[in-house]
Amino acid sequence: MNRIVILGAGYAGLAAATSLAGRTRRRSDVRITVVNADERFTERLRLHQTASGQRLADLRIPDLLAGAGVEFVRGWVTGVDAAARRVRIDDERVLEYDRLVYALGAVADTAAVPGVDENAYTLDSAHDADLLARRLAGLGGGTVVVCGSGLTGVECAAEIAERHPGLDVVLVGRQEPGATMTPGARAHLRRALARLGVRVVSGVEVVKVLPESVELAGGDSVPADVVLWTSGVRVPPLAAAAGLAVDERGRIVTDPTLRSVSHPQVYAIGDAAAVRQRYGVMHGTCQSGMPTGVHAALSIARELDGRQPRPFRFGYLHAPVSLGRRDAVIQFTHPDDSPKRLYLTGRAAVWYKETVSSSGWPSFRRLQRYPAVGSFAWRRGGRYTR
Ligand SMILES: Cc1cc2nc3c(=O)[nH]c(=O)nc-3n(C[C@H](O)[C@H](O)[C@H](O)COP(=O)(O)OP(=O)(O)OC[C@H]3O[C@@H](n4cnc5c(N)ncnc54)[C@H](O)[C@@H]3O)c2cc1C
Repeated sequence: MNRIVILGAGYAGLAAATSLAGRTRRRSDVRITVVNADERFTERLRLHQTASGQRLADLRIPDLLAGAGVEFVRGWVTGVDAAARRVRIDDERVLEYDRLVYALGAVADTAAVPGVDENAYTLDSAHDADLLARRLAGLGGGTVVVCGSGLTGVECAAEIAERHPGLDVVLVGRQEPGATMTPGARAHLRRALARLGVRVVSGVEVVKVLPESVELAGGDSVPADVVLWTSGVRVPPLAAAAGLAVDERGRIVTDPTLRSVSHPQVYAIGDAAAVRQRYGVMHGTCQSGMPTGVHAALSIARELDGRQPRPFRFGYLHAPVSLGRRDAVIQFTHPDDSPKRLYLTGRAAVWYKETVSSSGWPSFRRLQRYPAVGSFAWRRGGRYTR
């Protein structure tokens, strides 16, 4: 029996599980087990909607996986012994594996600045987003400071401002919002934030988060009733503690086929992996995470057939950014994620963004039924990745 354990049932883990189930359904010598903290699928890319008080669909992972013949284990992974090929769950259960797929995702980097852990909310899980939603619902008025002016920070600030017009929302960060976009797309984004009443404080460095303010380098501070931290990315220490080779953010360093460079029986995918392409190390997105899952499944299926896994190639297509529920901007990109001239705004962009955001769950069912289709579903990047 080939025991394949997949840790994490987010976008990357479920893409791997359903593709692998589809590809191995005629084999009786493969057992696939998926471990995840929760039975409910976390639509992470919609957590700003949860945080602003919206209810998301109730998507149940065991229902999805039962149809695929995959065993689901609900539990918190507390340790991996990569040498002994064992996973510890909730400190008491142990799972043994022949191949491991590590897809436990990443979290906001709350360790980079003092006071963030104690005084700021994050959107690392549905529970965190729910806590913020409750706090915002209980505020009669006041100021919400969103730290981090990257695209996640922009989406959060816009969503909160739209749902809570009585709150003063301030977006604080190093870069100008939309800095990675073309001037036209960036201007649209800035107009949308202004229309929603979001104050932007960019070009600044947050040095401390206090219970009632955010301190900036140079001595200025921004008063805050609530602080949301969206800046930076790090992978929890579990991967490093397992003895797997990791980079400076704790991400598992992979070879071109997505196997750990230190432990080739471990595949690392999604936000938890440091995957190098010719243009650099990929940054975590759902857009790239699902293809890494499909590719890991394809590679494992090849190994089970006695063949060598192939290198993973990926090129970005777009950066879709919601600006509340009634506006959005989609920046189309070159495979290396640099912006193209083409971008979409307004209703067409809202439709596009919603189509992308809702495509994950139906894709898992499709991957299980037609696994071969999954291999063609992403951009390979042409000369950017060759
Ligand atoms: C507000 C927001 C908006 C975003 N918008 C976009 C967007 O528009 N487009 C885009 O491409 N990306 C977007 N992203 C990023 C995207 O959500 C991530 O890149 C994607 O979720 C990564 O997928 P993953 O499977 O690697 O990790 P995740 O989706 O985070 O899944 C990890 C899973 O592992 C589980 N887990 C973690 N640790 C443990 C443990 N120790 N034991 C058991 N289970 C565990 C978690 O519960 C989760 O189910 C956004 C992110 C946020 C926060």
